[in-house]
Amino acid sequence: MERPVWADLAEPLGPLPALEGHHEAEACVVGLGGTGLAALGALVQRGLRAVGLDSTVVAGGAAGRNGGFLLAGAADPYHRVVATLGRPRAAAIYRATLDGLLGMAAETPESVALTGSLRVARSEEEALDCQLQREAMEADGLPVEPYDGPEGTGLLFPADGRFQPVARCRELARRLLAAGASLHEHSPVVAVEGGRVATTRGSVTCRWVLLATDGGLPRLVPAATGAGGVRSVRLQMLATAPAADRGWLRPVYARWGLDYWQQLPDGRVVLGGGRDRAGEEEYTEQQRTTATVQGHLDRLLREELGVEAPVTHRWSGIVSYSDSGLPLLGRVGPGVWAAGAYNGTGNVIGTLCGRALVELALDGRSEVAEVLAGPVPAGR
Ligand SMILES: Cc1cc2nc3c(=O)[nH]c(=O)nc-3n(C[C@H](O)[C@H](O)[C@H](O)COP(=O)(O)OP(=O)(O)OC[C@H]3O[C@@H](n4cnc5c(N)ncnc54)[C@H](O)[C@@H]3O)c2cc1C
Repeated sequence: MERPVWADLAEPLGPLPALEGHHEAEACVVGLGGTGLAALGALVQRGLRAVGLDSTVVAGGAAGRNGGFLLAGAADPYHRVVATLGRPRAAAIYRATLDGLLGMAAETPESVALTGSLRVARSEEEALDCQLQREAMEADGLPVEPYDGPEGTGLLFPADGRFQPVARCRELARRLLAAGASLHEHSPVVAVEGGRVATTRGSVTCRWVLLATDGGLPRLVPAATGAGGVRSVRLQMLATAPAADRGWLRPVYARWGLDYWQQLPDGRVVLGGGRDRAGEEEYTEQQRTTATVQGHLDRLLREELGVEAPVTHRWSGIVSYSDSGLPLLGRVGPGVWAAGAYNGTGNVIGTLCGRALVELALDGRSEVAEVLAGPVPAGR
């Protein structure tokens, strides 16, 4: 079944009505994943009239199709970020995401668990890289420990965690609806001009348009593909029925982060990765599973991890990657701001960027954006 396991395990929401006819609001947010819901939360907190639109459903994109890892830091390991951006900026990014993670746990404690996460090495070269990462993190007082356990040998990041991504998004949507936000599913945005957002069956006139479409950014902000080097990428996963307890207490990143898995408290194993096995084929915005990548995941599940429980779910999701390894976050045209390109680790950073979008649009500056944002393409 091409459906993420998370959607089946979370309390249902909605359905929410499609946008019909013409509406006026102060702000319109496109995308109801973690980023868009965070932006809407910040708008509602300021007492503004906000409309949220999604072409599918709440958490229908990557926010409901991911591995459920809550990781501090940028997408690259800490010592590499130090090498490219310097120590002060790398440390500031790490600390901002640590705060973001704690904020998510406090906001929706029922769907977040601060278990820590692991990076395990699958080669001598990777073990050496773990060592370099540990030294750089320790030098800056960041939380890291050496690890040796049933998952392998590597590093433990005690401040990280995991969450039920669909349960969290649906809960945030329920709170937004209760606070008066207007949320619309099955409302694909077909045109964005300063002050006006058009869907297939309606439109919204507003002062601020905030695009929170991660994997869909290259389509809505074509300039991003050139200047920001932003490309859509497909990531794939599977989930099993409850399996025997493996003693894996935390989400695991292995093989340079190209493979990742966790065992949920009910015993299900949720496993993703293998993007590199299919090369250029995975640079796409087509959401579907493929035999090449799913074959890799099957081998990893059965041969390397020794899990025997049947596979119940297979799915894919679309994200976007940037050349800089940092998110696209900023003004992309008159009255239009965008956030995305989280390079495959957008659960925490996306939440921070959603709030930063609102600060940038309304206040003209955001401390978080100054820390997190990569290059932004010139405004249209
Ligand atoms: C398989 C997989 C595993 C991952 N694992 C992890 C992980 O463990 N940890 C981690 O931190 N990150 C992970 N990620 C990345 C993370 O899921 C994303 O970076 C994050 O969810 C992005 O959230 P978002 O709200 O910005 O985007 P999305 O959740 O993709 O939301 C964007 C929304 O915009 C909507 N949309 C797009 N175009 C339009 C349009 N024209 N009109 C209206 N609506 C539109 C989409 O329907 C979608 O709902 C993973 C991603 C995938 C796919």
